[in-house]
Amino acid sequence: MNYIPNILFAIVLVIGIGYFVFNVKKLIRNIKLGQDLDVSDNKSQRWKNMAMIALGQSKMVRRPVAGIMHIIVYVGFIIINIEVLEIIIDGVLGTHRIFTGIGSLYGFLIGSFEVLAVLVLIAVMVFWIRRNIIKLSRFWKSEMTSWPKNDANYILYFEMVLMSLFLIMNATDFHFQEMNTGNVISQFIAPWFSGLSEGILHIVERATWWIHIIGILIFLNYLYFSKHLHILLAFPNTFYGSLKPKGEINNLKAVTNEVKLMMDPDADPFAAPAEGADDEVPAKFGASDVQDLNWVQLLNSYTCTECGRCTSECPANQTGKKLSPRKIMMDTRDRLEEVGKNIDANKGEFKEDGKQLLDDYITREELWACTSCNACVEACPVSINPLSIILDMRRYLVMEQSAAPTELNNMMTNIENNGAPWPYNQMDRLNWKDES
Ligand code: SF4
Ligand code: SF4
Repeated sequence: MNYIPNILFAIVLVIGIGYFVFNVKKLIRNIKLGQDLDVSDNKSQRWKNMAMIALGQSKMVRRPVAGIMHIIVYVGFIIINIEVLEIIIDGVLGTHRIFTGIGSLYGFLIGSFEVLAVLVLIAVMVFWIRRNIIKLSRFWKSEMTSWPKNDANYILYFEMVLMSLFLIMNATDFHFQEMNTGNVISQFIAPWFSGLSEGILHIVERATWWIHIIGILIFLNYLYFSKHLHILLAFPNTFYGSLKPKGEINNLKAVTNEVKLMMDPDADPFAAPAEGADDEVPAKFGASDVQDLNWVQLLNSYTCTECGRCTSECPANQTGKKLSPRKIMMDTRDRLEEVGKNIDANKGEFKEDGKQLLDDYITREELWACTSCNACVEACPVSINPLSIILDMRRYLVMEQSAAPTELNNMMTNIENNGAPWPYNQMDRLNWKDES
C-alpha cells in the first residue's frame, strides 16, 4: 500500500493547523495587553446575546438584502465544511468518501451541500457586484483603500474558488456520480468532463480534492491577517459585549468622589478617605495608546468586519466631519498589531517606539467630532463599541493634557468655579426669573 499521500496529507494538516494555533496564541496575547475588565456578570444574558447576535445574526437582517445573503454565506460555508471532516479522515486513513457508509443520509447531506454551494456562489457574486460595480458608498470611504479594499475582495474570490472546487470535485468523482445520490448539482457539471478518460478524470478529481483542502487551510490561516477574523471572534465579542444601557458612560470612581466632594457644601475636602474606599486614583486617566484600553475594546478591534454600518449611521461622518467609527476600530487594530510585532521583535518586551494610538493613528479632530450619539454602537452587527474608545481617548486629552477644545475648557472651568456650565456666579443663577 502506498502511504506517501497519507503522510503528505498529515504533514500539510499539521502545518496548516499548527500555524493557525501559533497565530491564535499571538492574538490572545495581544488582546491581553488591554486593561482588566470584569465581565463575569449576568452570564445567561450574555449567552442569549451570543446566540441571538452571533449565531442568529439578528442585527444583520436589519438590512435585509445584505443580511439574508450573509446568512446564506455563513450557514453555507459552515455546513459545507462538515464535508471537510470527511476529507480529513479520508486523507489521513487513505479511504475514499468514508461517510458513504451512513447510507441514504449521505446522499441527502451531499445534495444539501451542493445546493448551499450554489447559493453561496450566487451570494458572493452579489456581494462582489455591490462592492465593485454598484460601489455602495460605505465600501468606498477614505479608510477603505489598499489592503482593506483588497482584503474584502480576496475573501470573495476565495469563497468562489472553494465552492467551485467542491462542485467540480463531486462532478469528476466517477464513483460518486455512479452512485447517483446527492449529486443534485454536480450531475449537470459532470458532462463538461465527459470527453476525459477515467484516468484523467481521476487526476482532475484528486487535484480538486487536494486544492480544496489546501485552500481551506490557507483560508483558515488567512483569517488572522484579515477582517474575516470576525467569523470566529463574533462569538466571544457578542458574549463579552456591554450589557449596560446604551448611553451610560462609565465613571471613574476617584473622579466621581472628587466631584461629589466639590458639589457638597458640607463635605470636608481634607478628610481622610474612608477605610476600604474604592477610589484609588488610576496611574493614567483615559487612553492614549492601546495598552490603556481594556481587553474587550481590543477584542472589539480584532472583531470588526469593516462593514461600515457604523460609519454610514454616524451623524458626524454624514455631515462631512473627519470621523469614521470604522476607522477608529481599524486604527486600534493596526496599532495593536504594531505593538504585538514590537513585542515579538524584542523577546517578549515592548520597547518604546515613539508612537501611540493618539495622534499617530487617531487624530484629535476625529475624537472631538463625535457627538456621542451611540448610533455606531446601535448599528454594529457584532456588538462593537467604537464610542467607548473615543470617550477613553477624550478622557485622556481632558484629564492628562487639559487639551479639550476651548468651548469645553470654558464650560469645565465654569462648572469648577460656579457649579454650573455658565459664566455666572452661583448666587446669580436664578436672576432670570426676575427679568421681565
Ligand atoms: S457616537 Fe460618535 S462615532 Fe458613533 S455614530 Fe455617534 S457621532 Fe459617530
Ligand atoms: S464597528 Fe461594527 S459596524 Fe462598524 S465597521 Fe466594524 S463591524 Fe461594521
